[in-house]
Amino acid sequence: MKKKSYKTIHQNILTWYKQHGRVTLPWRNTTSAYEIYLSEIMLQQTQVKTVLERFYFPFLKRFPTFKDVASAPIDDVLKAWEGLGYYTRARNLHKTAQVTQGILPSSAEKLEELSGIGKSTAHAVACFAFNEALPILDANVKRILYRFFSLKKCTTKELWAYAYKLFDKDNAYIYNQTMMDIGSIICTHKNPNCTVCPFESGCQGKSNPLLYPEKKAKKTKPTRKHYMVIYHQNKKYALRQNESKLLGGLWGFEQHETFDITSKNITQLGVFTHHYTHFRLDANVLLIPKESVHKSYFTLDEIEELALSGADRKALSILKTYLR
Ligand code: SF4
Repeated sequence: MKKKSYKTIHQNILTWYKQHGRVTLPWRNTTSAYEIYLSEIMLQQTQVKTVLERFYFPFLKRFPTFKDVASAPIDDVLKAWEGLGYYTRARNLHKTAQVTQGILPSSAEKLEELSGIGKSTAHAVACFAFNEALPILDANVKRILYRFFSLKKCTTKELWAYAYKLFDKDNAYIYNQTMMDIGSIICTHKNPNCTVCPFESGCQGKSNPLLYPEKKAKKTKPTRKHYMVIYHQNKKYALRQNESKLLGGLWGFEQHETFDITSKNITQLGVFTHHYTHFRLDANVLLIPKESVHKSYFTLDEIEELALSGADRKALSILKTYLR
């Protein structure tokens, strides 16, 4: 790949960031590697607005330092993560806190060895917390690169080469923050606003940005039909801790693909739909008197203290409506 000078664009970026950069974001106003890393992990699958308004501050209030995360039980970390989804992130955060004893390493190379920290996150934390001059490559940055270089298809390795090519190593912090800002507010999926973009002068895709990257055929999500079974005794309800990769560590009601609902002891409470990334769950919620195999029964107040998945929260809400 031939190296080209992007001096004008780099200058435009500095000017743009000064005028429009989201400089008030709390993770841009701290030198704490933990707070920066936490924001990077939360923002991996969640929008800035949601993280800012609902999760970032309560999490830091509950765990002011990374050592607090390390010494907490995983159940407490999952509870603070409840509603944010993609719970592997919380489990990896906890594991990383324990492995590092609450002190993050200061180089991208060492950060990348930790659970749940990929190359781009390692570069972001190393750049924002420890001033290491490295480019990032999250989903927003990828979209900018595809368009800037008018690329239809690219491997991750090739995209990294483009990321380094356009990178301003002399102003790494501002460059990376601007990439994040432009990707989320200007070079958006559906409505790129090229006229106000600092990359515009060199952008090869600006005449038709939506051509890049080439769209993949949309897959329809499969539907899983499950029975959610709530066993009860003496105003207590049975839950078990999930062991699946998707929801490991979270508490939930029993789920079955098939269930004999003809028994006269069964109360059908209602149905709901819940969307996961890769499938849609259609659930039929049943209430059934205690079965001997269930060991963990909780009152409604006790359930509030547990970390539940979004689907289990919906089932709980249906149960509460029934009990009212
Ligand atoms: S000029 Fe347009 S297509 Fe190019 S990076 Fe900016 S917003 Fe995206």
